[in-house]
Amino acid sequence: MKRRILAYFMRMLTAAVALTTVLMTLVTYGMFERRMIEDLSVDAQVLHPLLDSSDAGRVMDELNGALRVTIIGEDGVVRYDNCSDASRMDNHLNRPEVAQALKTGEGSDVRDSQTMDTSTFYYATRLEDGSVLRVAKEASSIFSIYLNALPLILLVMAMMIAVSFFAAHLLTDRLVDPIRRLTADMDGEHSAASYPELQPFMRTIRSQHEEILKSADMRVEFTANVSHELKTPLTSISGYAELIESGMAQGEQAQRFAGEIHKSANRLLTLINDIIKLSQMDAPEHRIEREVVDLGQIAEGTVNQLRISAEKMNVTLTTDVKPGLVSADKGMMEELIYNLCDNAIRYNVRGGSVRVEVRPVRERVLLVVQDTGIGIGREHQERVFERFYRVDKSRSKATGGTGLGLAIVKHIAAQHDANITMESEPGSGTTITVSFERVTR
Ligand code: ADP
Repeated sequence: MKRRILAYFMRMLTAAVALTTVLMTLVTYGMFERRMIEDLSVDAQVLHPLLDSSDAGRVMDELNGALRVTIIGEDGVVRYDNCSDASRMDNHLNRPEVAQALKTGEGSDVRDSQTMDTSTFYYATRLEDGSVLRVAKEASSIFSIYLNALPLILLVMAMMIAVSFFAAHLLTDRLVDPIRRLTADMDGEHSAASYPELQPFMRTIRSQHEEILKSADMRVEFTANVSHELKTPLTSISGYAELIESGMAQGEQAQRFAGEIHKSANRLLTLINDIIKLSQMDAPEHRIEREVVDLGQIAEGTVNQLRISAEKMNVTLTTDVKPGLVSADKGMMEELIYNLCDNAIRYNVRGGSVRVEVRPVRERVLLVVQDTGIGIGREHQERVFERFYRVDKSRSKATGGTGLGLAIVKHIAAQHDANITMESEPGSGTTITVSFERVTR
């Protein structure tokens, strides 16, 4: 990060210095050029009256080459030059300043020398007799000015680089410091006092951190609960087996104890099955295999598996299902419907009833499981979806409950983006509705 900021700074500063140097020189040199031409025009004005006077020769000597003076005829032939032999000079008709002077009365031009290190400034003015008076001066070219300024420019750049090093260092520290503080102290309050651009990031990190902590807590709690739940049936298995082993239970009693062992073993199996289901669904790589299924058809099939246990409990089981297509994992749908109906039967009263309904409503397909059972008090309604939460532990256990059924239901619904609503009144019954997104084939 520091290196990137530094590189960025350097690029920016180098560009800024280079651009400023070029622009400044261009502007200054432009001004200098105009000044030179103006000066030359004044020189020409001063020289002009002297040309025909007797002083002309002395003036030229005094100039001593500092100012080049040339007189060119209308035809371009050089008539006089104070620096070279006029007769050997070529026709000047094509020189821009001369051509311009012949045309408009005055003209100027700047030409670089072959070595590029000097420039010659020319100013020409037309005289009354039609000939042209041209004055010229040499000066450093813009190129050589750059060349001369190069050490200075390099020095400035070096200073800029030093400044960027310092600034990049400072800036990176400022940028990174709140993050460093957050890392060191996730729950601390002072890291909130960083700059506003970082706030969303801080919030996300902190809430993720909280989530991780929460889920770790939940896992610890779940493990503790599981161990506890497994312990009870195992203790009774061990106890009954010991009694049989020692010969203390015999005949009919031994048979009864074996039955208890059998029951506890079955309990363990259902419990472990539920735990496996939940942990499979919890696994990050778990993917549900969706297909378009008819929830009505699945409900019908699942309800039929429960007819015997409904009869045993003396509960009437009725269905009212219409076709309702949803995109879902078929096995999970069976599991969800089974758990809801199983509860509706187990927490019912003798002579009560359970009604299972599937019905498409606009864009949704509703699964409604309604019972006339014992109901759930308001204070328990949220919590019954938690793992191992039971309102009446002994009733749950007596009917083969694990305390995981509704947790599995909630999990499956969440993975299918389905909503669960519960209405319940202790003593009159419970209605649980799961709403799925409807699909059309
Ligand atoms: P369990 O295996 O104990 O039935 P669940 O997770 O399925 O566990 O349900 C949690 C608790 O919610 C149950 O122990 C019971 O107290 C209550 N419950 C669930 N469904 C019903 C229902 N239809 N009527 C009354 N109570 C219910």
